[in-house]
Amino acid sequence: MNVDIDRFLHLVAEAVRHATTPVVDLIAVQTEDPYKVLVATILSARTKDETTAAASARLFARAPDIDGLAVLGVEEIARLIFPVGFYRTKAEHLHRLPSTLQAFGGKVPEEIEQLVTLPGVGRKTANLVRSVAFKKPAICVDTHVHRITNIWRYVDTANPLQTEMALRATLPERHWIPINSLLVAFGQSICRPVSPHCDRCPLQGLCPQHGVRPRKPPGGKMAQSSLLKCISWNVNGIRAVEKKGFVEQMLSFDADIVAIQETKAQVEQLSAELKDIPGYTSYWHSAERKGYSGVAIYSRVAPLAVRYGLGEAEFDCEGRVITLELERCFFVNIYFPNSGDELKRLDFKLRFNASLLRYAETLRKEKPVVLCGDFNVAHKEIDLTNPKANVKNAGFTPEERSSMDGFVAAGYVDTFRIFNQEPGQYTWWSYRFNARAKNIGWRIDYFCVSEELRQRVHSAGILPEITGSDHCPVSIELALES
Ligand code: SF4
Repeated sequence: MNVDIDRFLHLVAEAVRHATTPVVDLIAVQTEDPYKVLVATILSARTKDETTAAASARLFARAPDIDGLAVLGVEEIARLIFPVGFYRTKAEHLHRLPSTLQAFGGKVPEEIEQLVTLPGVGRKTANLVRSVAFKKPAICVDTHVHRITNIWRYVDTANPLQTEMALRATLPERHWIPINSLLVAFGQSICRPVSPHCDRCPLQGLCPQHGVRPRKPPGGKMAQSSLLKCISWNVNGIRAVEKKGFVEQMLSFDADIVAIQETKAQVEQLSAELKDIPGYTSYWHSAERKGYSGVAIYSRVAPLAVRYGLGEAEFDCEGRVITLELERCFFVNIYFPNSGDELKRLDFKLRFNASLLRYAETLRKEKPVVLCGDFNVAHKEIDLTNPKANVKNAGFTPEERSSMDGFVAAGYVDTFRIFNQEPGQYTWWSYRFNARAKNIGWRIDYFCVSEELRQRVHSAGILPEITGSDHCPVSIELALES
């Protein structure tokens, strides 16, 4: 599609003209200091602007320049910047920054290739620093820029790096610097990752809405309240993700039911904030072994009944299943076992899968079933980056894939593939090798519904822009009322 980018960005600018100025831009205007812009940019990753602003102020009061930073210990830096996301890692990066900058005469360099050699500085940060601090041409591609320019079909790319390269080739240079703050504000307010507000978007009618399932406007044919909106997320430790803003993230989902896997916590280890999120009742099934496995559900729908486990001791001691009985369906949250190193737990996993399927089929005799969670298997070759290399590895063995075939044959529909047949759609990335940035991943988190619900699946998606775990959330909207 031929996008009139000047017109699109003009309309976006109009739509977000009242948005708050991003904290990094604000610091650039107020200080005109590349050191402060660089530090604030590092702090801002995966952190809300208010938190970044407060942490920056505390740190700059003690370390107004590179020399000031050089005399602070790593623990002191960590204390000053807490609670920004990944504050310990960022503290270590900031601690190493003064010595690394010596290669550039003790100053923050301007060039991308130089900036990316600094600790904690990736391409996104480097582009932001170059554009904001030095007003030099650079395109900072974050998740919103990548997502929205693909929705517009202005680019056709699989990851942010490809988007940056494509934009460098096509986007007029006058838009390079402002596009990031414009599309971040637009992505947070109107063109949101889940159910974008197309009904109030100035681009409606111009935008091709590629891959988008817009929200239904209040008062539309299907009232918003008739949709059951659900999220499933393996958080890889709920206490760890709490420190990265889990409660705020949970509320921003605005979901009716949020299913969590790998809580890795006993109920008595949870903070009151985690157990009692406003508007939700939470249900927990923890493993007997501390710090291992565990599932939870937050629901603002009152269930008719709640069931914990499968009724088989060898599985239930690992805290892997919670079921909510709702009026029109059963909602089952599952953390499937991992087959483990050298496939030591493959037999256990296959027995669990068989038990889970029997359980689901028993429920289904009463009413339809939603199965969600971390299935710990990539079903088809399209569902991981390197299928050939992983045939003998946990999560992609013929036995595990065949077990997933068994769910499909029994009439459970992989809802994501109803809407999306594209490769490169993943929900888990290794923490190693910068895999997430390169989108080298696996799709192992699913919402499956029993066939009777297929026509009621209004949308199903993956939310890769939401970080905090090595998995990202997956979503579904079900029309259950009519
Ligand atoms: S019409 Fe919808 S998809 Fe397109 S830019 Fe607007 S909110 Fe995003």
